[in-house]
This record gives sequence, C-alpha cells and structure tokens, in this order.
Amino acid sequence: MKKKLNTTGLIFAMPEEQQGLEPLIQNLIVHTIANRRFLQGDLWGNSIVCVLSGIGKVAAASTTAILIQQFKVNQVILSGVAGAGSPDLHLGDIVIANALLQHDMNALPLCPRFEIPFTGQSRFFSNHDINSCLIRAAQHFLSQKMIYTIKENERQQFNLLPNRVQIKQGLIASGDQFIQDAQILNQLRVLLPDLLAVEMEGAAIAQVCQDFDVPYAVLRIISDNANENAHMDFQGFIQKVAALMSLGVLEIYFLAQMSNN
Ligand code: SAH
Repeated sequence: MKKKLNTTGLIFAMPEEQQGLEPLIQNLIVHTIANRRFLQGDLWGNSIVCVLSGIGKVAAASTTAILIQQFKVNQVILSGVAGAGSPDLHLGDIVIANALLQHDMNALPLCPRFEIPFTGQSRFFSNHDINSCLIRAAQHFLSQKMIYTIKENERQQFNLLPNRVQIKQGLIASGDQFIQDAQILNQLRVLLPDLLAVEMEGAAIAQVCQDFDVPYAVLRIISDNANENAHMDFQGFIQKVAALMSLGVLEIYFLAQMSNN
C-alpha cells in the first residue's frame, strides 16, 4: 500500500468531537505549541496532524496558522457539530460547507454587513474536490456503515435511518456565539436565506486557509436546532452519535484517498 504524500491538518473544536481518534494514530509524535497538542502521524493510511483548536474563531484561526506555517499541511479539514440553520435539517444530518461566512462580522456603515472590512468579501469558498470526496464518503457511511456504528437505541431515538439522514452542501455561518434562540436564528435566516448551519469556527479557518492559499473543507453533523432546546443533552448526542458519524465519514474519506494514490 502506497501512502499519500500530502499532509492533512485535521481540526476539531471540542474533545468530544475527536474522542477515540488518538489511539488510531500510528507513528504518533505529539508537539505542544500554544497550549495545544498537535498529533502528528499516520491515520487510515494518510499523513495527518490532528489538533484540538478550542472553541471560537480566534482559537480556530491561530490553530490553522500553526498547522500551515509550522507543519506545512497541504489541506485542512474541520470536523465537528453545528446547529441547524434551516428548518429542513434535523439532528444527525450531515452538512458539508461549500461557502462560509462570519455572521458576527459587522463593520457597518464602513462596509456591508458580513463583509471582512475592505476586502469586498463576505463568503469564503471551500475546496470542490475535497467536498466531493467527503460527500461520497458520507453517502457510503449512511448506506453501509451507520447501522454498525451507531447503537440501535440512538438510531431509534434520533430517527437515524439511512434514507432519512440527509447530506447537504451549502452555506455555514460562524460566529463567537452559541446560538440557542429561535429569534436570533430567524434574523440571520432573513439575511442569509441559503443558510444551512451555524457554528463557531469554520469561517475563521476558511479565512486563514484562503490567505495561505491552502485548500480546506468543513464537515459538520447537526447537533441541535440553534433554538431554546439547543443545550439539551448536547454532549450526550456528540458522544453517542455525532462524533461516531463524523469519524466514520472521515475514515472512509481517508481510506479512499489512500487507494487513489
Ligand atoms: N454548551 C456547549 C457549548 C459548546 S459551544 C458546551 O457546554 O459544551 C458549541 C460548539 O459546537 C462550537 O464548537 C460550535 O462550532 C458548535 N455548535 C454546535 N451547535 C451550535 C450552535 N447552535 N451555535 C453555535 N455553535 C454551535
């Protein structure tokens, strides 16, 4: 088996989102930089540097800069959970960003709402090829792996049937705010009718990757409806469902990368 020469930077915001991953990394070297553990090694046949960024845009941006500058990663993938930004999405649905925006960027009246001041840009576009591979991996996961990965209790509780769970590609909005208020979400949806999901890191990683011209992708599992119930058993859902789903998708993605080489 030939190994891919590219190195992927793999970012998670919260420990629950990457639980179970560290023991799978072979030839592991741990580097501690800026209070973060960068796990360098081989994962599912690919060279990776995996890191827990912490929550929020600053944490995500500085972590991404270290991955690119210090570890010379060739692509960055962020994986984790997000709140639904559209009523069509349900817990367990899989969202892959094709565009990302910072919903708390507001330099009015100097620049239009959401625009990164004086760049003329509010949306960042993720890498088409990585997205397509992630979508194929997600389809494979739902049709072949989900019933073996998620326990029956949870599959029933969250209605996780292979033909019920959706895979969507579209806009993810990031900001330094855990959105748990239907009114706030609706205000955003009026301004961003194509909004799929809200979270706290993606668009920061996108901005840094764009500056360094490094391809990136964002994979999110819907963990809540970003309304008043958003906090309810959030951690439990991540541990029992969302982390298993996203790691399952990533495993299929990485194994496919290896066989492509
Ligand atoms: N109450 C949680 C808060 C974690 S912050 C706790 O105590 O652990 C939420 C994390 O999940 C962030 O990393 C963010 O990217 C993502 N997320 C999930 N749902 C979200 C929502 N409704 N609004 C914003 N971020 C959300």
